[in-house]
Amino acid sequence: MPHVITSLCIRDGACVEVCPVSCIVPGPKGDPNWPYFYIDPDTCIDCGACVPVCPAQAIFPEDEVPEAYRKDIEENRRFFTEGPGYWDFNLEHERVRETAR
Ligand code: SF4
Ligand code: SF4
Repeated sequence: MPHVITSLCIRDGACVEVCPVSCIVPGPKGDPNWPYFYIDPDTCIDCGACVPVCPAQAIFPEDEVPEAYRKDIEENRRFFTEGPGYWDFNLEHERVRETAR
């Protein structure tokens, strides 16, 4: 059972840096259809490394996704089946980092 990024995601990008199987991909910045980062459910090995580094606490194991964000489970899968999927992104360009932090 994979981990899931919910719509709490603020595009910080820390999760991408720690994922050992590189299965986290951003929606292209500015694309209203894909505003968050997404986890490929078929590649995620459920290691949990991405959870503690997320400043927005946006990532959950699939069976622990809060009720209000259950729809995001399918969005993560859909990103890889119908959306951009894996693409050659530049993390520094795609991430949004708050300078105040
Ligand atoms: S670390 Fe959290 S906020 Fe940042 S891109 Fe990943 S899921 Fe989104
Ligand atoms: S649980 Fe592990 S494998 Fe899955 S997205 Fe997070 S860091 Fe990557």
